[in-house]
Amino acid sequence: FESLTVGELAKKLGREPSEIIKKLFMLGVMATINQELDKDAIELICTDYGVEVEEEIRIDKTDLETYFESDEEQPAGELKERPPVVTIMGHVDHGKTTLLDSIRNTKVTAGEAGGITQHIGAYQVVENGKKITFLDTPGHAAFTTMRARGAKVTDLTILVVAADDGVMPQTVEAINHAKAAEVPIIVAVNKMDKEAANPDRVMQELTEHGLVPEAWGGDTIFAPISALKGDGIDNLLDMVLLVAEVAELKADAKRKAIGTVIEAQLDKGRGSVATLLVQDGTLNVGDPIVVGNTFGRVRAMVNDIGRRVKEAGPSTPVEITGLNDVPQAGDRFVVFEDEKTARAVGESRATTAIQEQRSEKTRVTLDNLFDQM
Ligand code: GDP
Ligand code: MG
Repeated sequence: FESLTVGELAKKLGREPSEIIKKLFMLGVMATINQELDKDAIELICTDYGVEVEEEIRIDKTDLETYFESDEEQPAGELKERPPVVTIMGHVDHGKTTLLDSIRNTKVTAGEAGGITQHIGAYQVVENGKKITFLDTPGHAAFTTMRARGAKVTDLTILVVAADDGVMPQTVEAINHAKAAEVPIIVAVNKMDKEAANPDRVMQELTEHGLVPEAWGGDTIFAPISALKGDGIDNLLDMVLLVAEVAELKADAKRKAIGTVIEAQLDKGRGSVATLLVQDGTLNVGDPIVVGNTFGRVRAMVNDIGRRVKEAGPSTPVEITGLNDVPQAGDRFVVFEDEKTARAVGESRATTAIQEQRSEKTRVTLDNLFDQM
């Protein structure tokens, strides 16, 4: 606060305004209830009551998006290659889940997984010594929610098309989403093990939607696979790395972490649990963090194979606890230097969110009113 009226200060201190006015009079200040008091006067009164005045931090940047766009507060670090973040899209029953499972099962060794694979909405695999991050949030819904909220998390999308079924409505939807988000597409022609598999037809149909195979003079990679039998998975992953290399994905592991919420929920025992994708920098246990409209300090981190970790670098998915509230998928997160600032930004964002929600409610009520007329 810069200033308060006598009335406001009285309320904050839980005193009668007349009492404050009397005190001010004793200090040689004539005041009325609506009189604005400056910082010094406020401090004087507060000290008199034995109340400590805490210096409030002024926050001018509460839009987390600004932290993504400018690096002004970060020392110029070293940009290094980071793993690609991949989503899998495609028509229902064309094999998205089977492919995700197949990749996970063939690439994450049983020993590593320790028998139980904890589901955190994303996982990493290693192909030819290079990491690839897969988001296994339920396909289109997550993709559109995140995009609608302005979060760009995907570097590349694998479009799964069943060779025995061809292009279907959700295939086209997926293409449109990927194009709108300017995310490169690799086509996985799935179910090649089936008698009725017709990859030529898939290529033909996709060409009509602007995805022209290299063999036909285009620049879209088509990888034939059988997600069920695990055939062609290595080749598909090699293609992912190839496209990633062309995209020159870089990050600075030394800066404070920024990224996006993949999923979050309230856990009975652990409180707010959120899976975060670190997009730049390194996230550490103990970091003061603002996540969407909530904040906290990273209490514990668990990686995609259920191990506790102390840090998570670029493109790493990690589950954290320690937030005051449950954020939403697609929310941005930013790590701050100190907890005070994180708290100030977080609280300011929470207040704004509540106000927006209120005005939203009013509007909805009015709409309802009109509906009834
Ligand atoms: P999603 O809806 O895209 O996630 O599709 P699913 O992964 O659930 O697969 C739908 C059905 O297709 C399941 O019965 C799978 O076993 C089957 N399926 C997936 N991939 C293949 C494949 O490569 N070959 C065969 N024959 N069946 C497959
Ligand atoms: Mg599925």
